Amino acid sequence: MRRHWAIVGAGMAGLAAARRIVAAGHDVTVLDKSRGIGGRMATRRAGDLQFDHGAQFFTARGAPFSEVVAALVTNGQAAPWGDQGYVGTPGMSSVAKGLAAGLTMVGNQEVTALRRGPQGWTLATGEGSAAVDGTVQVGIDC
Ligand SMILES: Cc1cc2nc3c(=O)[nH]c(=O)nc-3n(C[C@H](O)[C@H](O)[C@H](O)COP(=O)(O)OP(=O)(O)OC[C@H]3O[C@@H](n4cnc5c(N)ncnc54)[C@H](O)[C@@H]3O)c2cc1C
Repeated sequence: MRRHWAIVGAGMAGLAAARRIVAAGHDVTVLDKSRGIGGRMATRRAGDLQFDHGAQFFTARGAPFSEVVAALVTNGQAAPWGDQGYVGTPGMSSVAKGLAAGLTMVGNQEVTALRRGPQGWTLATGEGSAAVDGTVQVGIDC
């Protein structure tokens, strides 16, 4: 049965999980409290300055992630770094953007509570969020 899942956090873990869920034939919405995606793989800007504030490089050891990284390299979103590693190009955010392609992303949404109701789960988001009514209604299977 097709279900609608919510993922809290658009870092590497959340994006990888979302891709698996979509590949399994379900719908998914990824929420992040930040405006951008990538979490600790994000590229930040300060005026003219651009910098990766977390991971400097990453490796791909397993075949499934190696295939993902090969696609990122083909798309110009990652490049080999040193002997065994890779780096996002032009910054680490490109890796997250590549992983997020085709996913439904909602930024500026800090999830503050999970509430179970008769129709499924409601994810409550903080004040100042971009959601129309302050909540995002999703039914998740758990
Ligand atoms: C300085 C530094 C250097 C590093 N160097 C390397 C390296 O060289 N190689 C390497 O492989 N790894 C490195 N790492 C580790 C790597 O960056 C992390 O392990 C990885 O990015 C973590 O991914 P994650 O998805 O688990 O978490 P995160 O990237 O932290 O993502 C979590 C996301 O959840 C969001 N979030 C949290 N709470 C909420 C909420 N309530 N509602 C909505 N959204 C929420 C956050 O905004 C964030 O985007 C480094 C990390 C740091 C900090």
